[in-house]
Amino acid sequence: MQPGIYSELEKILRYDRRVVSIVVEKIEEYWKKYRSKTGIEKLKIMDFCGTHEYSITRYGIRSIIPENIELVAGPGCPVCVTPSYYIEEIIKLALEGIVIYTYGDMYKIRSYKGVNGIFSLSEARSQGVDIRVVPDILVAIRDASKHGKPSVFIGVGFETIAPGYAQIILKKHLPRNLKLMSLVKLTPPAMFYALDVSREKPIEPPIMGIIAPGHVSTITGAKTWIPVSENYGIPVVVSGFEPLDILVSILEILKQLVNGIAKTIIEYTRAVSWHGDIIAQRNISRVFEIVDDTWRGIGFLPKSGLRLRREYREQDAFYEYSLKELTPREWSKDLPPACRCAEVVLGKVYPTQCPLFLKSCTPRRPVGPCMVSEEGTCAIWAKYGSRELLDKITNIVHKKP
Ligand code: SF4
Repeated sequence: MQPGIYSELEKILRYDRRVVSIVVEKIEEYWKKYRSKTGIEKLKIMDFCGTHEYSITRYGIRSIIPENIELVAGPGCPVCVTPSYYIEEIIKLALEGIVIYTYGDMYKIRSYKGVNGIFSLSEARSQGVDIRVVPDILVAIRDASKHGKPSVFIGVGFETIAPGYAQIILKKHLPRNLKLMSLVKLTPPAMFYALDVSREKPIEPPIMGIIAPGHVSTITGAKTWIPVSENYGIPVVVSGFEPLDILVSILEILKQLVNGIAKTIIEYTRAVSWHGDIIAQRNISRVFEIVDDTWRGIGFLPKSGLRLRREYREQDAFYEYSLKELTPREWSKDLPPACRCAEVVLGKVYPTQCPLFLKSCTPRRPVGPCMVSEEGTCAIWAKYGSRELLDKITNIVHKKP
């Protein structure tokens, strides 16, 4: 347990307690209405984004809503779904003497096969190769400009990070020795896939609503999710990340289900619009092309990745170092034995259903990719999902103001 977590939590919840209680009561009311109207005893709501899962778990949202409403995480952690193949290619580059710039969570992710007995960038650094952990690409630019050695920045992320990379490429801010390896992924195809899978091999209870990503939607606009509500006939709520945002989003989903409606709604109105950031979208289109991309443990999803366009290949690590893309024929299982990360990110199982969870796989010694990042569902559950914490939150929320 992290020090200070209770006091921080109490501070937030004391402020919001009255409102939280009202929303929770409404959720209970609508859940009862839904059950009596449909006879359905259980339903699932998918929270797509890693930051939503973080708030839900850390603030004990599951413990204050009816227990037959299951909140399951989706594939909203970019590091978790970066294929093992690319981690191995990056290790090879590092072993050839290229300076690698990476975010901290990519640094710790383990690959499936490894290279010369090295399975992660952190292991590679312990062998003496030059891998530098940076908080963002600007730090990498400054650092690479000073030393002038051949370098690569590993650009992992979703739509949220792409405008920053696009701006840097358009403005030619990369020094000649630093190349971008874009491994950016697009979220809507993954959401469609998660819903398709849940229908092909029906999961019980079914996914009946989506808490859609707030950060991604600031760029793409909420319009991106309209096909989900229209084609799958389920409510979608673009939600903020405070506990109250998430509770209000759950309430909205239940209201729509009770009233037989399936619409996309913006709850996160303080940051998200219907059309999103038009300039960012334009820059992304100018710099990147959309490609079929691989998602770790899942496989290829059509039109789900971004790579630099040909006109920017002088800044492209794939071109500079003749790196090959993974193909559907070459892709195969790339999760460690017994790791259920693919099912975790598709909302089919909870981390606790993995036999390795908090046994051989822990945040300190992660086995699978979902146990590494701050946005990885297994890591979040390992850090914040204890029963003790959930009980504490329940007590705080139900205390009379
Ligand atoms: Fe994979 Fe570890 Fe999560 Fe199990 S607990 S699904 S091994 S990341």
